[in-house]
Amino acid sequence: MSKRLTVLVVLILVIALVGGVIFLRGRQHAVEDIGEVPQETEELQRATDIAEIDLYVAAREQMVERGVIAYGIISPEVIEVMRRVPRHQFVPEEYNHLAYADNPLPIGFGQTISQPYIVALMTQELDVEEGDKVLEVGTGSGYQAAVLGELDLEVFTIEIIEPLANEAEQRLEELGYERVHVRNADGYFGWPEEAPFDAIIVTAAPDHIPQPLLQQLKIGGVLVIPVGPIGGIQELWRVTRLSADEFQSASLGGVRFVPFTRAGYDDP
Ligand code: SAH
Repeated sequence: MSKRLTVLVVLILVIALVGGVIFLRGRQHAVEDIGEVPQETEELQRATDIAEIDLYVAAREQMVERGVIAYGIISPEVIEVMRRVPRHQFVPEEYNHLAYADNPLPIGFGQTISQPYIVALMTQELDVEEGDKVLEVGTGSGYQAAVLGELDLEVFTIEIIEPLANEAEQRLEELGYERVHVRNADGYFGWPEEAPFDAIIVTAAPDHIPQPLLQQLKIGGVLVIPVGPIGGIQELWRVTRLSADEFQSASLGGVRFVPFTRAGYDDP
């Protein structure tokens, strides 16, 4: 037998041996699996959920590096919560792969979840501390509310479109945000029963600042709100209540938000 042939025969034998071992192990596994279906426990489910969230850790980190820190957000607390909140859980499933992109995304009913940077900026400008009471107008997906909840704030959030309010409420509950309270109403009137607030954030753009919101701010409290024309560029304002009737405002620049509506939506 030539040397070449010997090598070939040995090679074939080795492949057959390895293949056989793999095949037998697979069978053994299959046999073992029968009758051993694990019971789904709460613990197992939680571990699965965590594993699922963890798939997005790298994407979230990139979002924070490129879409939050690189744009000038400096609050360590805000940066930390942006790393933690699972943004992909707040977008429709077909957009999961885009959840951490540097963009707003559609959430249905003609509404959008804001760009990560805008969420971080508005949160930073609220200048809140753990335990503060915050009102949000424009729950949408509930993402901004979750970011506030993750900062250990008591969050009251109002959404005018009923299905969005219901979905957000359920999602926030499932994700364990116990201190976020959702209401389906016109946020123009604020949430009088819970006023006054340390901070108020409005994530839809009206053409003027609703008076009830100013009235529901604590002295020293801050309102962050985009104001301007529908469909155009609005100006983001930070309004601080100095006394019962004195307010100081500062512009934070141009933004583009969905309109602040007064009547919910037309059934699509
Ligand atoms: N903060 C949201 C983004 C919201 S988009 C998020 O993190 O996903 C703005 C939302 O404001 C929309 O869902 C819209 O329906 C809602 N909205 C508009 N006008 C409103 C009003 N008058 N009262 C309450 N919600 C309003």
